[in-house]
Amino acid sequence: MSKWASMQGASEQGANEQVSKGQVGKEADFTRTLAELQTCRLADLQFSQHSLQDYADCPRRFQLRYLLGVTWPAVKVEPIAEMEWRVRLGQRFHRMAHQHALGIPAGRLEAGLDDEDLHRWWHNFLTAPPRDLPTGIRRAEVSLSAPLVGHRLIARYDLLAADPGERLIIVDWKTRPRPRNTKRLLNKLQTVVYPYVLVEAGAVFNGGRSIQPEQVTMVYWFAHSPDDPLTLAYDAARHAANHERLVTLIREIAARDDENVQVWPLTDDVDRTCKFCAYRSLCERGSIAGDLDDLEEDWEFEEILDIDLEQIAEIAFR
Ligand code: SF4
Repeated sequence: MSKWASMQGASEQGANEQVSKGQVGKEADFTRTLAELQTCRLADLQFSQHSLQDYADCPRRFQLRYLLGVTWPAVKVEPIAEMEWRVRLGQRFHRMAHQHALGIPAGRLEAGLDDEDLHRWWHNFLTAPPRDLPTGIRRAEVSLSAPLVGHRLIARYDLLAADPGERLIIVDWKTRPRPRNTKRLLNKLQTVVYPYVLVEAGAVFNGGRSIQPEQVTMVYWFAHSPDDPLTLAYDAARHAANHERLVTLIREIAARDDENVQVWPLTDDVDRTCKFCAYRSLCERGSIAGDLDDLEEDWEFEEILDIDLEQIAEIAFR
């Protein structure tokens, strides 16, 4: 029996009960307080890959999460215990990679590693890291922020490696399997926002000089298949296209906000997007959580977690 399965009985039942009780209470509260919700001003929001992806996936989700601040305690994925276990493993891996970049010896970090998957990922991390990374500067868990059409756009990187004046490589650790079809990953807002913000706001990693898009590469490294990373070159044409896409998205959001529409459009993608969304019952898009086995390989666990952007320590360089 896998580790998560042994946790499943009591813990899942407890979690279900808790959610169920919480939901009843929240639903009652919600009808009473919806009109009283203290809405967030769009001008106060910092955009990120997560919030923009939410908007691209479903404008209503963006409105509920970021403007109305509605927390809706529904289970997004079942079985809950396995989901929590996988999320925790991913977080532990990222924390270890960060600590390793800070100079903590691998031997100390792996002492007490109690999970087979994490052990394998860590072994892969140590023996088959992304190849040929710049050595001049290595910064893990670093954030950058750039202004864009009256708003701020932030990006938080797992690892930035740079030889100032020469190359800059963004590395993103993935603990999900490498997608067979990379099209969706290439189209994700993360793939757009990360290199864009680096070029716009990362001069500090380039000896104080403006970064040319051609200096930047982005690498998705997969702990399951470390020898098969996805390496994406960047250039001026891609940067211009990304600028256009981001400006269009942010302007569209701002225009919607100005129109003061009560309910922003709901996605048509009920089967895929609503299935793993906490607001399902609120939107009357079903009450059953998505099955973890149906979670497509290009979904990130972070996408189905609530990301509290205020917890991200932003370092602004401009
Ligand atoms: S349940 Fe569907 S329509 Fe409602 S916010 Fe979530 S993704 Fe959008």
